[in-house]
Amino acid sequence: MHTIIKRCHQGNYTFEDLKYLLSVTSEEQTQLLLNEAYQVKCAEVKPIVNLRGIIEFSNICHKDCHYCGIRKSNEFVTRFFMQKDEILESAKWAFKKGYGSIVLQSGERCDLSYVDFVEDCLYAIKEITKGKLGVTLSLGEQTYQTYNRWFKAGAHRYLLRLETSNESLYNQLHPDDHSFLNRKKCLDVLRKVGYQVGTGVMIGLPGQNIDSLVQDVLFFKDNDIDMIGMGPYIKHPDTPMASLDLNLDVQQRFDLALKMIAVCRLVLRDVNIAATTALQAIDAMGREKGIKAGANVIMPNLSDIKYRDKYYLYAGKPCTDENASQCRDCLENRILSIGETINYNHWGDSPHFKKRQASCLY
Ligand code: SAH
Ligand code: SF4
Repeated sequence: MHTIIKRCHQGNYTFEDLKYLLSVTSEEQTQLLLNEAYQVKCAEVKPIVNLRGIIEFSNICHKDCHYCGIRKSNEFVTRFFMQKDEILESAKWAFKKGYGSIVLQSGERCDLSYVDFVEDCLYAIKEITKGKLGVTLSLGEQTYQTYNRWFKAGAHRYLLRLETSNESLYNQLHPDDHSFLNRKKCLDVLRKVGYQVGTGVMIGLPGQNIDSLVQDVLFFKDNDIDMIGMGPYIKHPDTPMASLDLNLDVQQRFDLALKMIAVCRLVLRDVNIAATTALQAIDAMGREKGIKAGANVIMPNLSDIKYRDKYYLYAGKPCTDENASQCRDCLENRILSIGETINYNHWGDSPHFKKRQASCLY
């Protein structure tokens, strides 16, 4: 274990090394892995948590991913689309509270009225916050032109999870007209446009094995990814995948997600890694445990309570009955209680992105 961790520190780890780390089960070895990753986190990105207030502004989606609760074929979902002024109110609230940056997320739509709407919101957010509030988008696969328009309107980071780097597994999780190659291509396009690029995978999917997760980590490394957002796969009862048996129980998926965070921190070093809400859906202290495993970003939910229970990607999403200010107070105490501080009023870009940008100038 010590030799493998040393090789990770030196950057000369092997595929088998990463497989070993993701496979440890004993309490002692797991703790060693998580502690090492936390040390790397503190050295590379400090014992600091960056907040991104997330506004899930619409659950209307034109795609049909087999795992997702808001897929277009789920007839039990009451669809909503927030008004521009509601989005601006949430953005303003986040800005006033010192969040530094927000994420706009929704189901996927590519029609012009939607693209215009998002662009309009971005310009307005930049105007009311005098360009000071950072904006990340998580709006799925779009064209070069759309990504470019939104970038020009002020978005500077984009999250697009590949879901898995294993093409045949990807195809099992999606209908035939969803394209793995296009999703991958979108990550390149986002990079070309100038975004800080975030991606990630779900952990504990049916048909996924440890080899596939190691491939995911190597994919992040090879593609020079700036930010990682990963979480355990959680069944949603009204989806086609709900009936599939899983190899891992819920606690095992949670533990594996923590190990993935730790291994990503050991391998990728200076990127931003989110402790996602899906961790908290399984364990009330899930996000704090994610931070202690090497994550440095938390995404508190800013959406109005009346919309939250309609944005159920998976079962048991937490805090659907707390408003944003209750969330903020509770979160701040939780973060302080684990010996970390919050990076208020900063965008909190990953050092990895800054280095990448600097090297592009020459
Ligand atoms: N429509 C956009 C953004 C919203 S979905 C997109 O797909 O990129 C955001 C993320 O939610 C997805 O990338 C997926 O990884 C995650 N998600 C969806 N269903 C899930 C489930 N059942 N369990 C865990 N994560 C899920
Ligand atoms: Fe739509 Fe995203 Fe859910 Fe797929 S994962 S159905 S694109 S919201």
